[in-house]
Amino acid sequence: MSGFLTGKRALITGIASPRSIAAGIAEALAAQGAELAFTYVGDKLQGRVEAVAEQHGSSIVLPCDVASDADIDGLMDKLAGHWDGFDILIHSIGFAPRELLKGGYLESVTREGFHIAHDISAYSFAALGKAARPMMAKRDDAAMLTLTYLGADKALPSYNVMGPAKASLEANVRYMAAELGREQIRVNGISAGPIKTLAAAGISGFRDMQAATANAAPLGRNVTALEVGNTAAFLCSPLASGVTGEIVFVDAGYNIMGMPPG
Ligand code: NAP
Repeated sequence: MSGFLTGKRALITGIASPRSIAAGIAEALAAQGAELAFTYVGDKLQGRVEAVAEQHGSSIVLPCDVASDADIDGLMDKLAGHWDGFDILIHSIGFAPRELLKGGYLESVTREGFHIAHDISAYSFAALGKAARPMMAKRDDAAMLTLTYLGADKALPSYNVMGPAKASLEANVRYMAAELGREQIRVNGISAGPIKTLAAAGISGFRDMQAATANAAPLGRNVTALEVGNTAAFLCSPLASGVTGEIVFVDAGYNIMGMPPG
């Protein structure tokens, strides 16, 4: 398949199910001709990720729990056995203990939960970026991309500790972009509107959030994982060669509204 990502190699993290945003990204990147490799967490998910990989003609499916430095190093070592370098890193990983994603922020937050949310959802992007850097340097135009949410900028019900974690993730985008630009590695984020995935199901009242977003968004609906994927494909392609350090909203325009329609 030829497209604007022909000749590019992409490592995609964060597929937990066919509904995962990362699955939409894989579809969009493959449609534009990229060659793909995938990661999974835990033996239970291996088969599921292998099925998605197979759909896109890939047999590179490697384990990586981002809570483990050994796993991250092992991932890059194993990937080096398949590829001498790669062009695109997709970080589509987020987690906070479920009990922190309901009630008020101060009511639910704990030191341990705050630490886990920031470690898995924000630090992991820096950790993967640091480990991937040697394999992504000296390519023509390489790109790292993460997934964030409006809760980084605005207080939203039940999103709680994930708000500060996503704010940290977005700051990571800027610091990583500043450091990696001279190596021709661009770093961006997509702030996606609410999409029904396994991670989203852990947020109390998620269905109401989706309904409220569709009601208030200029486009009058929610977005799909493939719409996020198509924007990811653009941002990671030479078509976006002048874009780095940005957070691009793919949310049917919801973030621009100051007040929900009456
Ligand atoms: P998802 O399908 O549940 O994907 C989340 C992924 O993170 C899963 O593959 C999960 O693997 C992985 N993950 C969690 N802990 C991990 C760890 N320690 N090591 C490696 N991977 C780990 O949900 P999603 O909605 O597509 O989420 C992808 C990203 O998009 C997240 O950063 C999320 O915050 C962001 N986002 C989602 C929405 C939305 O409404 N869905 C909106 C904006 C942004 P396991 O399931 O195996 O733990």
